[in-house]
Amino acid sequence: MFHVCQNCGMWRRDKIIDPTGPVAICPECGHQHPFKMLPLLIVSGAGGAGKSSVCQALAGKIDEAVLLEGDIIWRPEFNQPDDAFRGFFEAWLRIAMNVGQSGRPVVLFGAGMGVPANMEPCIHRRYFSRLSYLALVCDDDLLAERLRARPEWRGCADPAFIAAHQQFNRWFREEGPTTAPGIDLLDTTNVSPADTASQVAAWIRNQLSRDKA
Ligand SMILES: [Zn+2]
Repeated sequence: MFHVCQNCGMWRRDKIIDPTGPVAICPECGHQHPFKMLPLLIVSGAGGAGKSSVCQALAGKIDEAVLLEGDIIWRPEFNQPDDAFRGFFEAWLRIAMNVGQSGRPVVLFGAGMGVPANMEPCIHRRYFSRLSYLALVCDDDLLAERLRARPEWRGCADPAFIAAHQQFNRWFREEGPTTAPGIDLLDTTNVSPADTASQVAAWIRNQLSRDKA
């Protein structure tokens, strides 16, 4: 109900943000709604890079944040490549903002949300103090090996699927550090799943500690 103004009752998702409150100001009547303006942490990477394994390994182990996998709300209606999947990303930002009102930031695990150009222009981006990005990357051959090892029903052994994810994996490695904001990289090539999970946990805790300083 965050978008319905408590004063005038109008539904606006494009509130004006004053981070000094922080307050979300109704563009219709000027009512100032105090809210928790938290960071959103995003753990990304191409398919096969290890996002889901890390999310599952860390479930229940990081009390300071709420860890969620992007895929859980995916529906065919979100499959809108012409609109750069904007509806999907807006939905996640809105969920994360609402979860955050209970006081804990969200750590979102997913592929497309790891690209700042997909997230930063979203209307709901304004409700966060910042979006911090981490991408898991690995060698292309290993990525292909991991995708081929998946159960057949997922269709990940298709050469076109593998090539697309290898390209995405290379994009993170080559362009990740230069995007705005930059993407932190974690190479999982010679790292065990358990060590990868601890390194991601350390990244999350380091990010969260920035806000306490
Ligand atoms: Zn209003």
